[in-house]
Amino acid sequence: MIRKKILVTGGAGFVGSHLCERLLNEGNEVYCLDNFFTGQKQNIVHLLSNPYFELIRHDVINPFHIEVDEIYNLACPASPVHYQYNPIKTIKTSVMGAINMLGLAKRVNAKILQASTSEVYGNPLIHPQPESYWGNVNPIGERSCYDEGKRAAETLFSDYKKQNNVRIKIVRIFNTYGPRMHPNDGRVVSNFIVQALQNQDITVYGKGQQTRSFQFVDDLVEGMIKMMATQDSFTGPVNIGNPSEFTILELAEKVIKMTGSKSKIIYQPLPSDDPLMRKPEISLAEKELNWTPNIKLDTGLEKTIRFFQTII
Ligand code: NAD
Ligand code: UDP
Repeated sequence: MIRKKILVTGGAGFVGSHLCERLLNEGNEVYCLDNFFTGQKQNIVHLLSNPYFELIRHDVINPFHIEVDEIYNLACPASPVHYQYNPIKTIKTSVMGAINMLGLAKRVNAKILQASTSEVYGNPLIHPQPESYWGNVNPIGERSCYDEGKRAAETLFSDYKKQNNVRIKIVRIFNTYGPRMHPNDGRVVSNFIVQALQNQDITVYGKGQQTRSFQFVDDLVEGMIKMMATQDSFTGPVNIGNPSEFTILELAEKVIKMTGSKSKIIYQPLPSDDPLMRKPEISLAEKELNWTPNIKLDTGLEKTIRFFQTII
């Protein structure tokens, strides 16, 4: 068996830790690089005893050199609360992180996959969103540091392919949830579950009529690995998400029911530039990756609720 050397930036985060675990289980050597801004040792502590796992504390805004076969570039805070905490750092992480990791991929001839986002579609005027849609993004709003940073990273990936023939892959990830989300992460699934388990008010922003389509983390990891394994000629971008769409109010009601909580729903102001709807068009992933999400919201929520029951 050939043991691939794989670098995962942002590997101590929610998605990154699941990806590292899966890549190790498949017999690879994994280098997990993280600055621990939103990531936690707790997420990867169970991997530290594996001799094929290495943890590197590093910030992707600085260059980094290592001999690897593949790079998954996930380093970037993903929750609005975290990426808006230091917006200049967020866009630097996306742009300079992409330049540094693409430079590395070029030097060592590694394949490199970018964790892009459905946020590149902004507040979409087309529903569901296909990869061909160019998006509706405010360049100077609260979310711009993240959205525009990820858009610029896609441009850099595409230009390194055109100019230097770097073997790139771009996945646009839609809302993903699961065990190891940070309890104070601020994203809707973790917020609602933590609030419900503590019988606190469930904070629905706006009227709760905005929609999201929630994907369980295992489905995402499967999609990312399948994307990395495609022919060099297929670069994406490709949407990876679960097309089952729910209003935020429906999610709140579901979480209350599943946890048997006494929590009441309260309504708080809708943050600015909060997209009204979001749902992936996934026919490209189905065709090119032979991938489709398998885990239904109820099943994924059960696993996620069990996780939060053990940590709070
Ligand atoms: P997360 O915040 O849990 O993980 C991000 C990781 O990157 C953390 O471990 C953090 O410490 C690390 N990091 C941040 N800035 C860094 C820097 N400058 N240098 C090194 N490490 C740094 O978020 P997540 O949900 O696991 O998201 C992972 C990736 O997937 C992100 O790039 C995110 O944009 C993308 N994504 C996630 C979702 C989702 O719903 N979870 C949706 C779309 C895209
Ligand atoms: N949201 C909410 N209550 C919360 C957290 C989020 O109603 O406690 C809403 C938020 O306004 C958005 C949706 O849930 O419409 C998803 O928010 P999240 O931060 O998880 O992801 P994103 O907005 O980036 O899709």
